Amino acid sequence: MQLIKHINEMRSYIKGIEKEKSIGFVPTMGHLHEGHLSLIKRARQDCDEVVVSIFVNPTQFGAGEDYCRYPRDLSRDIKLCKQEGVDVVFAPSREEMYPDGYSTFVRVEGGLSLTLEGSSRPGHFQGVCTILTKLFNIISPHFSYFGQKDYQQVLVAKRLVRDLNVRTRIVVLPTVREKDGLAVSSRNSYLNKEERCAATVLHQSLEKAKQLIKEGKRDSDLVVSRMKDLIKAEPLAEIDYVAVVDSETLRKVERIAKEVLVAVAVKIGGTRLIDNAKIA
Ligand code: AMP
Repeated sequence: MQLIKHINEMRSYIKGIEKEKSIGFVPTMGHLHEGHLSLIKRARQDCDEVVVSIFVNPTQFGAGEDYCRYPRDLSRDIKLCKQEGVDVVFAPSREEMYPDGYSTFVRVEGGLSLTLEGSSRPGHFQGVCTILTKLFNIISPHFSYFGQKDYQQVLVAKRLVRDLNVRTRIVVLPTVREKDGLAVSSRNSYLNKEERCAATVLHQSLEKAKQLIKEGKRDSDLVVSRMKDLIKAEPLAEIDYVAVVDSETLRKVERIAKEVLVAVAVKIGGTRLIDNAKIA
């Protein structure tokens, strides 16, 4: 396995293989966990070459968010990538990706980027789209692997790829969860024991929504309010949003008549966690 830190080197590696080999790409911010590994394993099955990027992207963090304290452990990540048979880890520095004078940003306009995470974290998706565009340009992957855990990111990335004619196909894989349902996330490492226990409330609220919809409840306000009641019963939880939206447009749904996305963002102690479920 190769560790590549420079864009020029990454480009010439790709140039040497792209004619004969299919390239699978897994973009990550590192501190790899089972969620990331599920994407890597699938890329390994599908493609001749697997490239994993590890880059904590500063432009997708807002002021006062956790960019500085975000967990980083490159040597552990490299070990895990080796075990999974990854061909290349691309781990550029901040200066390599955003040199002095950097001033170009990519934005998917409209509702997809403005609702949910976009509304709670202004500028987040501009940062995501900018780094993805750069990485797609550098790596030219045939297939790019994303997790449903970041459902809105997937929709925004698909729109970006379609609108800018990026030559990659986006593959989406299910959210990997702990035994008690908590979605695996790098940010779970911020949680102390009590907070870790409390964090299951996100998944429980999604299960509640599933149950209500299965019972035939069609009023989304009722579903949201029952989910909120459940979350509020957990003293360490502070709701950012609970939403029932159209799974394609992410617009608010009044009456649940077809597949919806139920999405939650909740602070547990100081840690902001997100989760979602598609419910047909
Ligand atoms: P991140 O390092 O958090 O930017 O995540 C990199 C990729 O891993 C994104 O496509 C995420 O959606 C995906 N991912 C993160 N957590 C999970 C999970 N629990 N299950 C599946 N994919 C995940």
